[in-house]
Amino acid sequence: NKQVILKDYVSGIPKETDFEIKTGEARLKVEEGSGGVIVKNLYLSVDPYMRLRMRKPQPNPSYFSPFPPGSVMMGNGVGRVVDSGHPNYKKGDLVRGITGWEEYSVITAPESLHKIQTTDIPPSFYLGILGTPGLTAYVGLHEICSPKEGEYVFISAASGAVGHIIGQLAKLKGCYVVGSAGSDEKVDLLKSKCGFDEAFNYNKEQDLDAALKRYFPQGIDIYFENVGGKMLDAVLLNMRLHGRIAVCGMISQYNMDKPEGVKNLMLLVYKRLRMEGFMVSAYYDLYPKFLDEAISYIREGKIVYVEDTVEGLESCPGALAGLFEGRNVGKQVVRVGQD
Ligand code: NDP
Repeated sequence: NKQVILKDYVSGIPKETDFEIKTGEARLKVEEGSGGVIVKNLYLSVDPYMRLRMRKPQPNPSYFSPFPPGSVMMGNGVGRVVDSGHPNYKKGDLVRGITGWEEYSVITAPESLHKIQTTDIPPSFYLGILGTPGLTAYVGLHEICSPKEGEYVFISAASGAVGHIIGQLAKLKGCYVVGSAGSDEKVDLLKSKCGFDEAFNYNKEQDLDAALKRYFPQGIDIYFENVGGKMLDAVLLNMRLHGRIAVCGMISQYNMDKPEGVKNLMLLVYKRLRMEGFMVSAYYDLYPKFLDEAISYIREGKIVYVEDTVEGLESCPGALAGLFEGRNVGKQVVRVGQD
């Protein structure tokens, strides 16, 4: 059983040398009476929040508990049950849930797993559009921002796992949608494949405020915040009266020991804005409704899903670092096993 081990707490952008690959004997049979399940991992998800779990324990309460140094990296995965001591699962079931960055995972509390029932949709989609990123886009847009037809929506990190789904959901609501991304290739993808009205490469803009004024001469009603920092300050200058900001994440801050300050927060008052942070985990009860809708959108071709797949367990550390360098286009997954 090959496993990716986090050696120690990390500072700065995660590097391949922060991890080591260990090889040991795989357990393929559950321990008698344990009630556990053994899963062969097929696809593993690589997500920005993992970086927040690689920090030293923080003095202030943090949502994310740190990964213990020397432990196997944990995250969302899709896999096949190879042995089960639990009545709800049998050998051959396809499941999604929290597994390890390893070829085979022993799941001691299988209640946390979910069976995948659909057969016409690639299993890896359950890590992206039909998984946490898709639900994040759905609740962030609908529950936090309540978009109305004709409203002006701006999304940062727009070509990423969450971003490219939000834009398409907002288009289905009849909004005008603009996204920012870190390369011309991503800008082109957003406009030509994902149906965004406009998109721009923030790395090419000297002045983010001027760029936003160019795309939103009338201002922004809804901002879906994925990056924080300078972008948030520029957006605040361009929000319309009574605008809404869904704070999903601030990836530009995750590798900093001390996050940057935000200068223009007073504009929340003058413009009577609502800025609301959310955690997708508080909305899991909406998952069945979301799943029905999202599966229909995929089958009807109303949403295009962009996935970036790299091969092999050894690719996990590099793929994680890539999120902070903008190397991924769409949802980053790693294929670790053949079905
Ligand atoms: P993505 O697939 O969007 O990957 C991350 C992307 O962020 C990169 O591709 C890169 O794109 C961009 N990025 C990286 N560093 C910077 C930087 N310094 N400045 C600007 N952009 C940067 O990841 P996800 O879609 O999975 O996550 C997007 C956001 O949503 C993150 O902030 C994440 O933490 C958050 N999130 C929050 C959840 C919640 O429950 N609140 C749940 C899931 C995700 P580019 O080339 O455009 O720079």
